[in-house]
Amino acid sequence: MPAAEPARVVETRALSGQPLPALPGATHELRLSLYAFRGSLWTQREIEPAILEAARLLARCGVALAGAELRLLDAPRRFHFYSTPVARELLHGLPVSKPAIFFVDDTLNRPAYDAEAIGLANAATRPELANTVWVAHGARDLPLALAHELAHVLSDSGEHSDEPGNLMRAATSPENTRLSDAQCERLRERGQANGLLAPRP
Ligand SMILES: [Zn+2]
Repeated sequence: MPAAEPARVVETRALSGQPLPALPGATHELRLSLYAFRGSLWTQREIEPAILEAARLLARCGVALAGAELRLLDAPRRFHFYSTPVARELLHGLPVSKPAIFFVDDTLNRPAYDAEAIGLANAATRPELANTVWVAHGARDLPLALAHELAHVLSDSGEHSDEPGNLMRAATSPENTRLSDAQCERLRERGQANGLLAPRP
């Protein structure tokens, strides 16, 4: 692996444009680390509402978004594009709290997915990437894509559903928003076991 070039956090912003939903019935809390690159295509104005909308979809599982911080990274331009080796190199020298979402300009992986999630189960050959999500700019149905990928990570499962209207159908679409009770149960259980969700005090 080539020597890591410097990538550093130059600014940390709380997602504070709107208050996070209180969600009184929630049993679990999720804290998200969000990363974007200075000088890239993404803006906080695009990221923030999409994260809040994705959180509303996961709220149906009794999971409340308890916090989200957006960190701006200063890194050479080649890091603005996702590919497995470059992402590994980035995370090799950058301590991040998980689950983490990286907003990248595009993906160079083939097949090229708008968004890609790496759980523990599929991180064996790329351990640095465990519990991360990589989203390309222009991803379709962004809030749904984020919720879908987060559900993969939290439940540590690459499974898709054939159920009509299910969030975990292979293709995201505005009609596919629902998580089943079984999916929610696995998401809470695996999410907590893997330290990605905290039981609500
Ligand atoms: Zn999927």
